[in-house]
Amino acid sequence: MIRCNVWRDLQSWLYPELCSACQKPLEWGDAPLCLPCEAKLPYALQAFGQTNALFRRLEGRTALHSAAYFLEYKRGSVGAELLHKIKYDTHLKLLQYLLWQWAREWKPFGIWESATLIPVPPNRWQSRNRGYHAASEMADALSCMYGLKVCHNALTRRFLTRSQTRLSRLDRWANLDSVYSVHRKNLPLGPLILVDDVVTTGATAERCLSLLQSETDAPLALLSLAYTL
Ligand SMILES: [Zn+2]
Repeated sequence: MIRCNVWRDLQSWLYPELCSACQKPLEWGDAPLCLPCEAKLPYALQAFGQTNALFRRLEGRTALHSAAYFLEYKRGSVGAELLHKIKYDTHLKLLQYLLWQWAREWKPFGIWESATLIPVPPNRWQSRNRGYHAASEMADALSCMYGLKVCHNALTRRFLTRSQTRLSRLDRWANLDSVYSVHRKNLPLGPLILVDDVVTTGATAERCLSLLQSETDAPLALLSLAYTL
């Protein structure tokens, strides 16, 4: 046992784990962030409600009962860099860490305690070439934390489309119009929570919520790790 500890200490001295944000060696614990970087995270901690910025972004565009999010995304911030890693670099440990931080602050309540989580579906590139999709990982992790059900096949994405990030809201809507499908036979009963990693214009969430609304009268909520200010 002593030999194991010595070897582990030697390894951590030779190859220290680095902070996911600043790349400085981590000094303690299993957290992927150093304390100064964690303190800079743009926490929003918005529980389900109808007054937060995410709800107001989608208000009147689709039937949305409530919205919740954890971080505020600002270009150039520590949070933006970390979210980019989560979304594009398969940074599962960092995603799980942020979700556990979230879990200490946020709990589903009321009708959402019995809701089913539905992740925004991955595109083909995400699902086939990388095997990692942040929204699906989020839904699975939140399911473990809160005992909520997850449904991965009620919403699907039909084909690869060009990146949404540089399109206007109108162009995004046109681009998304024929991409997503809802499958009535797979749709669970009861309240549904659409799960996304980062909401920017809200076009993807709006399209997915509208599709769900077309097949169910159940209350619909949106849960996002981050919302772009
Ligand atoms: Zn750091």
